Amino acid sequence: MRKAAVIGIGSACFVVGAAYGVRGRSSQLFGPSVYRGRGKRKSIALTFDDGPSEGSLTLVDYLEEQQVRATFFQCGMNVRRHPEIARSIHAAGHEIGNHTYSHARLCPRISRKPNLLSPESIYSELSRAQEAIQSETDVNPTLFRAPYGLRWIGLAEAQRRLSLLGVMWTVIGNDWKWPAQRIAKLVLRKSDPGGIICLHDGRDIQPKPDISETLLAIREIIPALKDKGYSFETVSELVKQDMTCRITGPETSPGSTNAARQGIY
Ligand SMILES: [Zn+2]
Repeated sequence: MRKAAVIGIGSACFVVGAAYGVRGRSSQLFGPSVYRGRGKRKSIALTFDDGPSEGSLTLVDYLEEQQVRATFFQCGMNVRRHPEIARSIHAAGHEIGNHTYSHARLCPRISRKPNLLSPESIYSELSRAQEAIQSETDVNPTLFRAPYGLRWIGLAEAQRRLSLLGVMWTVIGNDWKWPAQRIAKLVLRKSDPGGIICLHDGRDIQPKPDISETLLAIREIIPALKDKGYSFETVSELVKQDMTCRITGPETSPGSTNAARQGIY
């Protein structure tokens, strides 16, 4: 009986640990990753995933008006669909990161029929996105964001082969399901120096996604953060502060990370 209880507790710990490894913002289990800058300056990074889409240029126009530069984690398939929009985003001075080719879920589902991606398939998702972005915009991304924030076996090797640093976030706006005011309220409440804000200018690889709530929310978020004294940086700028970015969380000593040792930046 006691043995069964120990096994049960051990299994539960394993499941919780594995879940954190897959999804935890500070997890390094499946590849080097950052989720915030050091925060010594009052700066913050806006990131937009799943684009480019038909609505991206409206966002870019507003960012231009506000003199704010952001980071766009793009899907290769969307870049192939809207190469001219991807080029405009780059030309406006924004950073472009890799968000896989088809917005693939890299981690298998537990509750449904397993859809396990092999390490080579994971590499293919990342490399095809890298190729699409490079050939359409002439940018070779150095940052990668996993769809749904889910990482898995094989990702570390794919990141190493493509020299990609993983990027998570400090706040995600739920902008694919919430109205603008609620998105803005959450983002503003959780914003802090060195933070990385995750929003979306697309919806995975859907054509003509509705990103109107995101476009409205950002018109509340940027002026409010400016009022609080924040400046805006791309993710590379935010985490590149003398190799002192937080890779494994607040307990990590500056400059002691795997990514720093590997010269990933
Ligand atoms: Zn995504």
